[in-house]
Amino acid sequence: MSTDDKPTMLIVGASLGGLMLGALLEKSGVPYAIFERATTVKPLGSAMSVGPTLLPTFQQIGIYDNILSIGKYMSFTETYKETLEP
Ligand SMILES: Cc1cc2nc3c(=O)[nH]c(=O)nc-3n(C[C@H](O)[C@H](O)[C@H](O)COP(=O)(O)OP(=O)(O)OC[C@H]3O[C@@H](n4cnc5c(N)ncnc54)[C@H](O)[C@@H]3O)c2cc1C
Repeated sequence: MSTDDKPTMLIVGASLGGLMLGALLEKSGVPYAIFERATTVKPLGSAMSVGPTLLPTFQQIGIYDNILSIGKYMSFTETYKETLEP
């Protein structure tokens, strides 16, 4: 093994955490392999809220403009109890 060899990172799960880690390792030039047990991608069928603290990471991996172009701004949220009372 030469000193240039880097170990391959094994990532279990191709959801948000696994894919984000894969994107960061790709950018860093670190070898990796992602393993996912699901054989199909299920329709999301929902919205995902993204807080401002995550946006610098999107810039870092080069998807910030894409996220903004498909996203909608959210100006407020309402939280409900199980009884549907605010
Ligand atoms: C209803 C709901 C709404 C949510 N809404 C939001 C939101 O609006 N904004 C937000 O920031 N967060 C939201 N979250 C939280 C967010 O979904 C989780 O924090 C996030 O999905 C965690 O990502 P993860 O990659 O750590 O794990 P997971 O998303 O749980 O992914 C784990 C992956 O690993 C795979 N896996 C598991 N075991 C194995 C194995 N043995 N071998 C191979 N693959 C395996 C699974 O199939 C899966 O794909 C929501 C969660 C829920 C349930």
